[in-house]
Amino acid sequence: MKKLKYFLVLMMSVLLAVVSVGCGSKPLSAQDVLHNAKDSNTLTWGVKADTKLMGLIDVKDGQEKGFEIDMAKALTKKILGKNGKAKFVTVTSQSRIPLLKNGNIDAIIATMTINAERKKVIDFSDSYFDAGQAILVKDGSPVKSVKDLNNKTVIGVVGSNSVENVKKYAPKARVLQLQDYAQALVALKSGQGDALTTDNVILAGMAVENPGYHVQGSAFTTEPYGIGINKDQPALRHALNKAIKETEKDGTYNKLIKKWFGNVPGFNYREVLR
Ligand code: GLU
Repeated sequence: MKKLKYFLVLMMSVLLAVVSVGCGSKPLSAQDVLHNAKDSNTLTWGVKADTKLMGLIDVKDGQEKGFEIDMAKALTKKILGKNGKAKFVTVTSQSRIPLLKNGNIDAIIATMTINAERKKVIDFSDSYFDAGQAILVKDGSPVKSVKDLNNKTVIGVVGSNSVENVKKYAPKARVLQLQDYAQALVALKSGQGDALTTDNVILAGMAVENPGYHVQGSAFTTEPYGIGINKDQPALRHALNKAIKETEKDGTYNKLIKKWFGNVPGFNYREVLR
């Protein structure tokens, strides 16, 4: 009898433990991401690792560097306080939304344009950067504008909207899609395409490091970048928008624009000051 009682008590405690663990891992939609970030004093950001000037891992020290990295750090401090930590997880154009939806990251700050299609699956902060799509070509290229890409091959990246955009301007262009911008640039340099297309700011970062290549003409679309977050996170969205405004008001924003773009040939930083 005593044994049975002991057994029952043991079973009850196991059951209780299972139930409480289950509650701790509520589905993401039922969690308050901002609340969790405050608890852990950490915001986990999805950032690019292959996009010089915006988000790039420096091979010398393994650190992420770029305008978006600095913005993420500044926003984290504004939201969590000066000891708040910004943690970085590398994403590509293709992996950023799935990683957010799985809960691997709290927010995406990775050259992602706010658009209607993406708004069906995630939410966005207000825009924190104004980019525009353009093309990168080899010096002396006969491709003078996006329209010249008809019957030519244009290189892009999977998961970016640039590939669809370019089809509107050059419907007969052939498109070669690579996994990330590092691979796309290698493809252009090895002659697998006549131009590489994505946002002007990303192309400017490539041109800086690759003499003999330049951004051709001006941007032919507008690409407002937003921070991607999961749906039903009004507190996080509000906190991000407030923090973005603060960086604009206190001069942090323009300071970072000048730091990263002040000296980049072919990119007029004055146009993106706020
Ligand atoms: N801004 C564009 C996009 O969101 C192109 C840059 C990128 O691939 O991240 O798709």
